[in-house]
Amino acid sequence: MLKIKNYINGELLKPRSKVWLDNFCPANGEVYGQTPNSSQEDVDNAYIAAQSAFPSWSQTPLEERCRTLLKIADLIENNIDTLAEAESIDNGKPITLAKSVDIPRAASNFRFFAHAITQFSSESHETVGQEAINYTLRRPIGVVGCISPWNLPLYLFTWKIAPALAAGNCVVAKPSEVTPVTAFLLSKICIEAGLPKGVLNIVHGLGNTTGQAIIEHPEIKAISFTGGTKTGAHIAKTAAPMFKKLSLELGGKNPNIIFADCDYSDMLNTTIRSSFTNQGQICLCGSRIFVEDSIYEKFKSDFIQKVKLLRVDHPSKDLTDIGAIVSKSHLEKVLKYINNAENEGGKILFGGQQICVEGFENGYYMEPTIIEVETNNCQINQEEVFGPVVTLMPFKTEDEVLQMANGVKYGLSATIWTNNLQRGIRLSNQIQAGIVWVNTWMLRDLRTPFGGVKASGIGREGGFEALRFFTEAKNVCIKY
Ligand code: NAD
Repeated sequence: MLKIKNYINGELLKPRSKVWLDNFCPANGEVYGQTPNSSQEDVDNAYIAAQSAFPSWSQTPLEERCRTLLKIADLIENNIDTLAEAESIDNGKPITLAKSVDIPRAASNFRFFAHAITQFSSESHETVGQEAINYTLRRPIGVVGCISPWNLPLYLFTWKIAPALAAGNCVVAKPSEVTPVTAFLLSKICIEAGLPKGVLNIVHGLGNTTGQAIIEHPEIKAISFTGGTKTGAHIAKTAAPMFKKLSLELGGKNPNIIFADCDYSDMLNTTIRSSFTNQGQICLCGSRIFVEDSIYEKFKSDFIQKVKLLRVDHPSKDLTDIGAIVSKSHLEKVLKYINNAENEGGKILFGGQQICVEGFENGYYMEPTIIEVETNNCQINQEEVFGPVVTLMPFKTEDEVLQMANGVKYGLSATIWTNNLQRGIRLSNQIQAGIVWVNTWMLRDLRTPFGGVKASGIGREGGFEALRFFTEAKNVCIKY
């Protein structure tokens, strides 16, 4: 049985707590590994290692830092098959997706920030009339904490770690206890790449034990967190009295707005992806679909036809479109939302049920689900379900759809389908979201700012935004 270890001070260690958690495979419901539930003592040790490594790592010439991070990127790529298989077993996502998206992106995260740090610069200001010049130093913060969720395990873990390390910080990181395996494999890769000991420390465990010890640690000066809004609020409350720097990437309830003048087939194919990729467990999924009324009935029928063709099956099969939901408790939560939606007057147009996959009867599978709703003010349109569930609703005017798009507490992303450029720009300007896609979805350029507004979080990741987060600006003013 796979036994995961913490990565502290360059070594793979059992938890001091001696407490282990079972690791379930969602595709068959079986326990296949154990992961530490690390205690405060483990986190303290990780901190001490990081703190001792900081003076040297923060002074390492950029070229050398860059070379080490590129080595990690290369090793991720060289191990793509192993990592993709591990991610698929741990998370339930189709292996094809892990191989084409998750793992390549983890390598890109390291490669991107390895190069970005060599191009990062700060400002200088001449104070005219005062005979003074100001320049800004951008210094690494020290020891920072990175905490990530289960939906894109290695992808999001590295999206935080890579910029933190590139900027010269040392890191105490915790992946989700639900999907710890690829983070463990990353530890081995870091050892092989020759990352100096203590620069990155990975501690495994539950949010309310290991995670809590990280956010409460008085010397961990910044926390980069991706996860649920409720957890984000708890972290903010805990960290505020210690004045920690926070980046919080939280939940979403994203609108997918479809106008009659769009490129119909591109929209239809992309809407299948934006609804159900990764079993709908991506914070950017467009879970509220609003369709202009003149094409509503056509869209409804075409969409249902296409969704019927999606194959729900074991994640290891090449033809699987939808794998297993990440955990039993999450599956139950998603099914409960569907049940409530029906009770609230929602009409299930397709799906809604758990599925039994032959040979894997204890796996956590469910049908992709389409629910027609009459109002945006229902639970299924207001709360994040985070599963293969979308709602459909017609709209008549741009104003009406804008009201509905903005009529939720979240503000992560939005998609607009139209060939009317003015309308695309007009709506993009008015939608309350950190990311708006027009005529596409999840097209990512790593240089762009990534994050949400309202209950979807604070701060931005990506590009220089991430490097700004992971550094402190210091102004030096010299009178000459
Ligand atoms: P979660 O909030 O339950 O857990 C996220 C991480 O936080 C895990 O590692 C968990 O162990 C840890 N955690 C939990 N309690 C903690 C505590 N008290 N102190 C410190 N750490 C703690 O979220 P999840 O269920 O793993 O992930 C799903 C959520 O993540 C969804 O809401 C989704 O929208 C969100 N998400 C957001 C983005 C984004 O970029 N905005 C990306 C992916 C996922």
